[in-house]
Amino acid sequence: MKPIYFNIPHLTGKELMYMKRAVKTGKISGDGLFTRECQAQLEKAYGFKKVLLTNSCTDALEMGAMLFNIKEGDEVIAPSFTFVSSVNPFVIRGANIAFADSTATNPNMDIKQIESLITNKTKAIVVVHYAGVACDMDAIMNIAKKHKLLVIEDAAQCIDSYYKKSALGSIGHVGAFSFHESKNIITGEGGMLTVNDTSINDRAEIIWEKGTNRRAFFKGKADKYEWVDVGSSFLPSDITAAFLKAQLEELDKIQKKRRRLWEQYYDQLKELAKKNIMLPNIPEYATNNGHMFYLVCKSKDERSKLIEHLKKHKIQAVFHYQSLHKSPFYKDKYKGPELPNSDHYSDCLVRLPLYYDLKLNEVDHVCEQILKFYKNFPA
Ligand SMILES: *Cc1c(COP(=O)(O)O)cnc(C)c1O
Repeated sequence: MKPIYFNIPHLTGKELMYMKRAVKTGKISGDGLFTRECQAQLEKAYGFKKVLLTNSCTDALEMGAMLFNIKEGDEVIAPSFTFVSSVNPFVIRGANIAFADSTATNPNMDIKQIESLITNKTKAIVVVHYAGVACDMDAIMNIAKKHKLLVIEDAAQCIDSYYKKSALGSIGHVGAFSFHESKNIITGEGGMLTVNDTSINDRAEIIWEKGTNRRAFFKGKADKYEWVDVGSSFLPSDITAAFLKAQLEELDKIQKKRRRLWEQYYDQLKELAKKNIMLPNIPEYATNNGHMFYLVCKSKDERSKLIEHLKKHKIQAVFHYQSLHKSPFYKDKYKGPELPNSDHYSDCLVRLPLYYDLKLNEVDHVCEQILKFYKNFPA
C-alpha cells in the first residue's frame, strides 16, 4: 500500500484555464468579473443575502469584528475547542473571551452554558459548527435576540451544510467561510464573508474596500470616492476568484464523493463504537457535508498509541485543536471554570484521512488497521 496522507488538495482541472482568462482581461485586482460571478453564484445557491470573497476565513472573521464595532472591554462568547481565528479578531480589538465548553456528544459548544456566560458587557456570540455539523441555531438566535447580542457563524468548515432548511452561514448576522486547502473547496488561501442582516450590507462593502466608498462610487451611488469608515484590504485578487470558479463548478461532485468516503468510515467503524471509541454524532437538525471524519479515543495515551500504530502503517492521522482557554497566550487571562469536554476532545480526538482523491479501498485499509489496533487494546 502507498502511504495515505491526511489531506491532498483536489484540483478540478479547470483552475489554470480560468486563471489565464482572468489574467487576459487585464484587470486582476479585487472585485473583478470572476469575483462577482462567484459571489452571485454562492448567494443564489445558499440564500446568503450578500457574499464578499476574502483572502481567508480569518479575514472574514476580522470583518465581522469590525462590523460588530467590538471595542476594549467588550465580551464575546465562543467555544474553547476551536481554531484561534474564531477569537483572535475580537481579541485584537480588545475584547475578552468567555469560553464555553463543548457538549459531551459532539465538539460543538454547549448551548446550555451560553446564558450563564452573558454579562452586561457581552456583545456577541461566535458559533463554530465543528466538522460542518450545525449547532442548534434556533436556540442560539433566541438567546441572542433576548439579550440583544450579535451572532457570527464561524462556518469555515461548512460549505454546503445545513441547519434544518437553512444553509450554515445564512442564519447569524454574518458568517465566515474558508477556502484554505484543507477545506472541501479551496483556493489555497481564501474565504468569504456572508452578510445576512441587510442593514449592515453597505458597511460590509466599505470595510472590504479599505474603509472607502469605492463600491458605491462605481455604482453611481456616491459622487466622490472617499475615506468613510475603518476597513482593510480584505478582497482577494480576481485570479483567486478564477480558481474558485473551477472549484464551484465541481462542488456537487466533490461533496458526493466526500460523503461517500465518510459513510464508508462510519459503516466500518460503528462496531468499535459500541465499546472502544466515540464516533461523530450528527443531530437530527443537522446535515453532514463530509468535511471531516474523526473518532474520539478514551485517553490521550490511547490516542498517541493509535496515531503511532497508523503511522507505522504509513497512514497519517492527526489530532486537532487544543483548548484555547489553556493556550500559552490566553491561560493567564482566563478566569472561568474548567472546561472538561473541550479538554477531552483536545486530548482524545483523531482525524482520519479524507479528501476527494482518496479511494474507498484506502478507507477500508485505514479501518482495518484501526480494528487491528483495538484487538490489542481492549476497552
Ligand atoms: C480553517 C478554519 C479557520 C481559518 O480559516 P482560514 O481560511 O485559514 O483563515 C477558522 N475557523 C475554523 C473553525 C477553521 O476550521
